[in-house]
Amino acid sequence: MSKKVVVKPQIRSNVFLTAHPIGLKYFVGNQINEAKKLSKINKGKINNVLIIGGSSGYGLSSRIVSAYNMGANTINVSFEGEPTERRVGTAGYWNNLYFRHFAKQDLRTKHFDLNKDAFSDETKQEVIQLLKDNNIKVDLVIYSLASGVRPNEAGDLVRSAIKPIGKVVVGKTFDIAKGVVQEITVNPATEEEIDNTVFVMGGGDWQNWITKLMANDLLNEGCKTISYTYVGGDSTKDIYRSGTIGRAKEDLERSQNVLNQLISSKCRGEALISSSKAVVTKASVFIPQMPAYVACLYDVMMADKTHESILKHKHRLFKDMVYGNKRIVDNDNRIRIDHLEIDEKTQNKTIKLMNEVSDDELLNLGGTAEFLQEFYQMNGFNFDEVDYEQEIDVDELLKELNS
Ligand code: NAD
Repeated sequence: MSKKVVVKPQIRSNVFLTAHPIGLKYFVGNQINEAKKLSKINKGKINNVLIIGGSSGYGLSSRIVSAYNMGANTINVSFEGEPTERRVGTAGYWNNLYFRHFAKQDLRTKHFDLNKDAFSDETKQEVIQLLKDNNIKVDLVIYSLASGVRPNEAGDLVRSAIKPIGKVVVGKTFDIAKGVVQEITVNPATEEEIDNTVFVMGGGDWQNWITKLMANDLLNEGCKTISYTYVGGDSTKDIYRSGTIGRAKEDLERSQNVLNQLISSKCRGEALISSSKAVVTKASVFIPQMPAYVACLYDVMMADKTHESILKHKHRLFKDMVYGNKRIVDNDNRIRIDHLEIDEKTQNKTIKLMNEVSDDELLNLGGTAEFLQEFYQMNGFNFDEVDYEQEIDVDELLKELNS
């Protein structure tokens, strides 16, 4: 059956169930156009970048910066839904195709995608083989995975839970599908839920990747590896930093120390962790309270002209703080590229706004409009250039993009 479909937005529990392939061409293309206007980074010195989780969010913008600003070949491992008889495929699946489509037109470098479970040994082995077959040693490994599940050694799926620890949290969030603000109550996590979240989102898998690549002599001299944490401020503390996901991030941050010792002694490289700012991604929108916080933060940062796109944020991270000499590091050795978000005045204004606005006012903030626009666009919707009534021939499009 030829898949000719009209794709409409479908959202449940702030998760998009559909993605618009034509719109995603603009989503990826716009980020690439942004990158083309920004400066080059360490040109010619970073030849090969491996990204774990490079199909969306921070991983995708990191991949675009690696290819377009650093001039590197990229290898991306992500886990996305392919088109089937009933589904058009996930946004990240199309992002990968469009990234390679544009890169083929614009660049002379090579770009590989593996659509596989990054947690598995088999996937790691496949990447190792791909690197060996193509004579590639890696200069930078970006670990940007966000997942709700990870298989344990017995093959059973362990699930993370985004919950507070030791207290009940009550707060506001958006129900995006219904266009309303809702009060939510999140009960504290059990010990098992804490352990499971650390297992899924902590640093264990990042360590596995780096040690395996190192054992196969696939990291170049001076190789760096980086992963992304989030610190945030007082208004997100209970649900994030002091909650289950915060415990997982503490584990990820500990892994940075372990990896730094290893990689500095074996390849004279370094392992880094950057606290990135809160942005709209598939993963962040799912966190209770985060949407209302991000909308208010955007409102404040847009008014103060400190708002940065996801692409510019990652470009600045690599240009100034990974390879440049403007690194801001805190007492826990974390790169603080989020300094504009956690700036005291910005935090105070954001908290004031969150406390003072009525639900209706919250829905009508400029920051909320930006938040929603980004949420729709990262799934391929709300682009003026696209006719959303037009049928898409998925098979034809796949043929065209894979040719
Ligand atoms: P995202 O959901 O947009 O991207 C997650 C990526 O992980 C996708 O490429 C997805 O395919 C991949 N992935 C998930 N499970 C996989 C699996 N089993 N195997 C292979 N790939 C898999 O998420 P994001 O928000 O960009 O998050 C990336 C990292 O950045 C996370 O560590 C997150 O905590 C961190 N971070 C995010 C924010 C934010 O506001 N979004 C802020 C600070 C830090």
